Amino acid sequence: MSNESTTEKQPFQAEVQQLLDIVIHSLYTDREIFVRELVSNASDALEKFRHLRQTENDIQDDDLEPGVTITTDKDAGTVTFTDTGIGMTREEIVQNLGTIAHSGTKAFVKALKENAEAKENVIGQFGVGFYSAFMVADEVEVYTRTWKKDGVDLLWKSDGKTGYTIEEVGDLKRGTQIVLKLKEEYKDFAEEFRVKSVLSNWSNFLAFPVKLNEEVIETKEAIWLKNKKDITAEQYEEFYKFIGHGGAPMTHLHFAVDAPLDIHALLFVPDKNPEPWGMGQTDPSVSLYCRKVLIDDAAKGLLPDWLRFLRGVVDSADLPLNISRESMQDSSLVQKLNKVLTKRMLKHFEKLAKDDEEAYTKFYNEFSRFIKEGVVSDYTHKDQLAKLLRYESSMTDAGKTVGIQDYLDRAKDGQDTIYFQVGASRAAIEAGPYLEGFKARGLEVLYFADPIDEYVAGNLFEFEGKKLVAVDRADVELDDTEASEGQEEPLEEAALTKLCGWMKEQFGETRVKEVRGGKRLVGSPVVALTTGQAMSPQMRQMMKQMNPEGADLPEDPVELEINARHPLVKALATASESKPEFAKVAAAQMLDNALLAAGMLEDPKDLVNRNYAVLEEALK
Ligand code: ADP
Ligand code: MG
Repeated sequence: MSNESTTEKQPFQAEVQQLLDIVIHSLYTDREIFVRELVSNASDALEKFRHLRQTENDIQDDDLEPGVTITTDKDAGTVTFTDTGIGMTREEIVQNLGTIAHSGTKAFVKALKENAEAKENVIGQFGVGFYSAFMVADEVEVYTRTWKKDGVDLLWKSDGKTGYTIEEVGDLKRGTQIVLKLKEEYKDFAEEFRVKSVLSNWSNFLAFPVKLNEEVIETKEAIWLKNKKDITAEQYEEFYKFIGHGGAPMTHLHFAVDAPLDIHALLFVPDKNPEPWGMGQTDPSVSLYCRKVLIDDAAKGLLPDWLRFLRGVVDSADLPLNISRESMQDSSLVQKLNKVLTKRMLKHFEKLAKDDEEAYTKFYNEFSRFIKEGVVSDYTHKDQLAKLLRYESSMTDAGKTVGIQDYLDRAKDGQDTIYFQVGASRAAIEAGPYLEGFKARGLEVLYFADPIDEYVAGNLFEFEGKKLVAVDRADVELDDTEASEGQEEPLEEAALTKLCGWMKEQFGETRVKEVRGGKRLVGSPVVALTTGQAMSPQMRQMMKQMNPEGADLPEDPVELEINARHPLVKALATASESKPEFAKVAAAQMLDNALLAAGMLEDPKDLVNRNYAVLEEALK
């Protein structure tokens, strides 16, 4: 250990000089980053001390409180960073601040040399730590006292241009104090509020207390960088609160990978849907960090839109520190992050669904809209997202749901269609005539009671190669087995054909395309089936409501299926010959009833009047 004292100026290593020129003149437009660099160095020094203390006994100023203190002095035009970390010996100070021995900066200069033209680019990929102080300061003084008992108190001083001096001083406590004599144009950093606003932006995640003048700045450990085994549920919750979201998270995903990218992510699902009325898109709010340094507190492009409800932190050491927010969104790195994060999140939801049905249901009830949005907007993940969908069905109790995979797993052998019915509610769906034929055959029908379900089904089209089909489609084929057991004898084939022809005549082309006997009805006499466009009556209704004038929707004639076993149908067949005038009224009423049940009756006026006529006749 050398004790010689010299105030003779030492030149910087050539590479350092080169680096300094760049840093001072062209590196960051955002000069305030020196605050985070110096605080993070202080924090590193404290961390090193904490480790060292576990093995060393002979320590200088052993009883100092760990922490970082920042002081501003407006009159003197200075800002000072003081820590009670390990400090530096003379050799260390020469090594650390006068040469580029540490790997990051070394790599930086190496890249710079190899790629002189693309200077700006290369610069962007590295943080340059301590030297950033010279962006805002004419002179930097580093007072330091090593933890080693036999060390000395030192002052390193430099203008960042002509080299540095090191001299011995007296009266220092263990640790390092860095005084920045601010350039005229950056004197604002000598004001407390200015430094405070910088701090509030990013430095909250430190394991040690930070003080600004007399005030303690609230900090939290960057738990996303820790091993999840070492973090309790309470800590996660506390962290969630700390990053500024009320309530407790519903679930979280915490993971770390180092290939193909270095990623530490801690993502929370909040307990409430931020868009409860489905109106207005909230902005993403997951923050992006590079080794605890905040890059963007609401990173766009980091996650797909449909995951915008997530909260939390993503940290990647591979990120360039001074990347601009604008260029980041399109950077291939962010796209890669997006890919990994999305995949992980999907897996997390899948696992939650499998391991904890109750928790998954809670999640789904709040956030199903986002999953559905994903199905229609994220082609890449459509299939995986579809696995997360849940529906009530003809085989679930009210309030209970089934996923499409489970639907298929419990479907009958050979069933190659996934059946669904669109309707306003479970009750509305079950009141209609559509389910009975499926129920009788043991075919499960999913209930699409959310207005966007039909749209989702249209986009999904199929799941695991099986088509999604609405039960009110005319082209649904049902077999003739079991269902007819124990039922009345049907109308003779010839009588049925005749009745169908007669009915068709009454209704005309525009409203009814075809009338035919069929197998899907059990208890109801007649049902209206959709044919033309893949659009349900509900969807049609919605489009008309949204645009009453321009809703020039083409007529969508239905197919009428009649139940040849039903007494009413049989009676109609007879009446069509014995009292044709009244049979016409009855047939018209049956059509309107069918349209009403299908949600396709647009004007109920005729139906009501006709109904009186029917009653009159019945009461005669
Ligand atoms: P990096 O932090 O990436 O190593 P820096 O330029 O920020 O690069 O710092 C260079 C080195 O200077 C650090 O590695 C550390 O050894 C030393 N150093 C900087 N600040 C302090 C400090 N407050 N206390 C002790 N050592 C420090
Ligand atoms: Mg550093």
